[in-house]
Amino acid sequence: MAGIIYALTSLFLGICAGLSAPRNHPANEVTLLDSRSVQGDLAWVASPTEGGWEEVSIMDEKNIPIRTYQVCNVMEPNQNNWLRTHWIRRGPAQRIYIEIKFTLRDCNSLPGVIGTCKETFNLYYLESDSDNERFAHESRFEKIDTVAADESFTQVDIGDRIMKLNTEVRDVGVLSRTGFYLAFQDVGACIALVSVHVFYKKCPLAVRNLAQFPDTVTGADTSSLVEVRGSCVNHSEEQEVPKMYCGADGEWLVPIGNCLCNPGYEERNEQCQVCKVGYYRSLSSDGGCRKCPLHSYSMKEGATSCDCDKGYYRSETDPAAMPCTHPPSAPHNLISNVNETSVLLEWSPPITSGGRQDLTYNVVCKQCVRDTQRCTPCGDDVRYSPQRLSLRSTRVSVHQLQAHTNYTFQIWAVNGVSKHSPSLEQATSITLTTNQAGECSKDITRHTLSLFWDKPEKPNGVILEYEVKYYEKNERSYRIVKTTSRSADIKDLTPLTSYVFHVRARTAAGYGETLIVSLSVAAPVVGGVISSAVLLLLVAGCVVVLLLTLIITFIITKRIYVDPYTYEDPNQAIREFAKEINTSCIKIEKVIGIGEFGEVCSGRLKLPGKREICVAIKTLKAGFTEQQRLDFLSEASVIGQFDHPNIIHLEGVVTKCKPVMIITEYMENGSLDMFLRKNDGRFTVIQLVGILRGIASGMKYLSDMSYVHRDLAARNILVNSNLVCKVSDFGMSRVLEDEPEGAYTTRGGKIPIRWTAPEAITYRKFTSASDVWSYGIAMWEVMSYGERPYWDMSNQDVIKAIEEGYRLPPPMECPLALHQLMLESWMRERADRPKFSQIVNMLDKLIRNPATLKRTAGDASRPHPSTLHHAPSLGSVDEWLKTIGLEQYRENFSTAGFCSLESVLPMSHEDLGKMGISCSAHQRKILSSVQELLSGMHHRQDTKVPV
Ligand code: AMP
Repeated sequence: MAGIIYALTSLFLGICAGLSAPRNHPANEVTLLDSRSVQGDLAWVASPTEGGWEEVSIMDEKNIPIRTYQVCNVMEPNQNNWLRTHWIRRGPAQRIYIEIKFTLRDCNSLPGVIGTCKETFNLYYLESDSDNERFAHESRFEKIDTVAADESFTQVDIGDRIMKLNTEVRDVGVLSRTGFYLAFQDVGACIALVSVHVFYKKCPLAVRNLAQFPDTVTGADTSSLVEVRGSCVNHSEEQEVPKMYCGADGEWLVPIGNCLCNPGYEERNEQCQVCKVGYYRSLSSDGGCRKCPLHSYSMKEGATSCDCDKGYYRSETDPAAMPCTHPPSAPHNLISNVNETSVLLEWSPPITSGGRQDLTYNVVCKQCVRDTQRCTPCGDDVRYSPQRLSLRSTRVSVHQLQAHTNYTFQIWAVNGVSKHSPSLEQATSITLTTNQAGECSKDITRHTLSLFWDKPEKPNGVILEYEVKYYEKNERSYRIVKTTSRSADIKDLTPLTSYVFHVRARTAAGYGETLIVSLSVAAPVVGGVISSAVLLLLVAGCVVVLLLTLIITFIITKRIYVDPYTYEDPNQAIREFAKEINTSCIKIEKVIGIGEFGEVCSGRLKLPGKREICVAIKTLKAGFTEQQRLDFLSEASVIGQFDHPNIIHLEGVVTKCKPVMIITEYMENGSLDMFLRKNDGRFTVIQLVGILRGIASGMKYLSDMSYVHRDLAARNILVNSNLVCKVSDFGMSRVLEDEPEGAYTTRGGKIPIRWTAPEAITYRKFTSASDVWSYGIAMWEVMSYGERPYWDMSNQDVIKAIEEGYRLPPPMECPLALHQLMLESWMRERADRPKFSQIVNMLDKLIRNPATLKRTAGDASRPHPSTLHHAPSLGSVDEWLKTIGLEQYRENFSTAGFCSLESVLPMSHEDLGKMGISCSAHQRKILSSVQELLSGMHHRQDTKVPV
């Protein structure tokens, strides 16, 4: 008995060192019971009441008393000591977690206890709607688990108080009653229950995208997601229904939808905060509050727009961000040129345009009685060229005036805010008298022509200047005028002569295309007046920019994959290979899986000018490091380089806002392994071969690009609604670290052992040939509808068996030809394995000749987990041809890609013909020998060799 007491005492001496005051529980845990925070006795119910569990007070290192239970009847047989908690109210919990901290003595350290001492205890629970002593009988309790220690201790060194506690957590769901009891059953161990913490998990109140999500209790299932609708925070409105999923671990998953701050408020610290005085925000889709633009102000908080300073205005169409403006000043330098009953008016733009770009001119024409101030508006028969109102040019010609009449012309400068303050200060005027027909006037435009043209529609850069080249129609000598404006006055023309004009624009890229225009200068003879000296030549869109001669050189070279990590800046690779997508084009709909870096969601993508498509959206969870961001995005820079129907297609990436996302095409049927397991036995052999062909074709494309996948397995193939399989999972880091099947090898890094070729496991020789090995395993997975390769054998046993030459046997009903192909891809020497191109050809051949698929590995039942198949080695094609005396066909066989004898097995007459072996006697001889090989193999396969 003394020994036992010693054991218990030391039990607690040890505990104290590892125990600190009750910890603060994480925000996503809601405590239902914490034995360490109970003041006074725990007073749980022990049975038997004496000699079993005992309540003991100990002091933790801060001298705070804590209540514990202990039992240590290691010398007495048949122990059955129960300890039951008081009734615990369940609250809203559907799944509860029980965290037990305890110490447990190692039986080896206690002399004389063999046969009676135990090192485990059992944990039970009982649900009930009320605290009912009589009801809580032991026999009613349900077992949660047997709990064993990770750190049992063998000896206690009093001088060294460092003793680790065991912490074990168990969980139970789905709970439905009002409350429950927990019970601890000891069957003869030496245990101290130091603390018991019972809690449930919730996703704590959170604000995402301005939507508030309430405290949400997690689902009953460890894998269930609870969909929660958020409500917009104060001063915000819903843009798209905000939703978020609460995961079983009490973590919120990717937020969907969002709210936007109302006008007058801006987003700050996940709240909508009011815009300060002097600031405004006009639309909920705008960024933050902005300072009032020039010549405007806001006097109150929460302004949605700013008022204009006195004398400044805003037109109805002016955006709120535009400064307030004022009407322009009057045009100036107005001059007139009268020609009989026409007049050309020209003026200079106003000194100030009022701060706007929309300046135009209106002409007001008045006919005045000479020497009086009486004027009347001009009649409707007066013509204006180009027009009277909204003129953009600073000239107008007015025709069909009356001869010998006094006119006053006002030119008004007008802009978008003129109507707010009309005043004569915006107009300039001129008064003139028209002439008699044929009368001469001062002729300043004689022999002159004015050309106007429009800007080219698509200049290939900033236009530096225009060049006007002109010559007499039948002459070759020309003159050139250069101008930076879109008009030119051409002087010294010869009247009554036809001219050709070329106008072209020059940008930094050179001259644009030239327009050739022929014009006759329809002027009277010298001494007369050139009528309508202004020729408006609107050459809209005709001065075309230089057609860049694109010398498209097709360099026909093999495309090689570029490792994004070879870029000095991996962001550059992302920019190069992945298109940036604007988040407004993406609609996230639901969470479909959990990836290595965050949730994978399904949703829709609508790119401008394209139809909406379903997409998969991989997200990068918050709080990532720059390296994790690059690792995550590296997958996009890899996939972005591929374009093949059997490789997952990248739509683009979102890197400019959070969460960072990778958008790929959506594969409705998810990963191939799960898909096969769900549809066990439902496909025809031809459908399965079709699946294999698709994967092989994708892999051929990758190997042609010199890309080595390293993790080809059914779980990394995705299936769409048309059963098209696509190779996926091109993450860089996962190759070594994050593969769920990965096991650490002696050389560091993780490798999916069962799928990996021996040379890749032993000395990391990853090549397309090692991908072929993995392909063989994936074939086996497909043909066995998602069976686990090598069943429950350990990784070490798999490595050993492969080393000894054992290989996976044919799955049930697997055509022999396919198993042969598997065996070839599992050749020890990687050079002996077929290339992906040969695999594709071989599968095509099988699909064309479905009869070759009939032969299966006999009536072999699903292989017994403990049996592997010793790889039959048939020798080389050359040797075989020699034995049947047809060596002359060696070339034919090797050219057709038959490099191992296994590969000739599915061969037909037609194949031989195509290989150039036309002699029918030779064909017969070859095929009968093939038959013999097959029956020999069949025989050998029936003898399964246990590992
Ligand atoms: P991964 O991070 O690529 O392993 O993706 C995790 C899970 O999300 C996969 O196992 C699939 O179930 C799912 N998933 C990933 N990409 C897609 C996709 N393009 N279409 C449909 N489901 C996908």
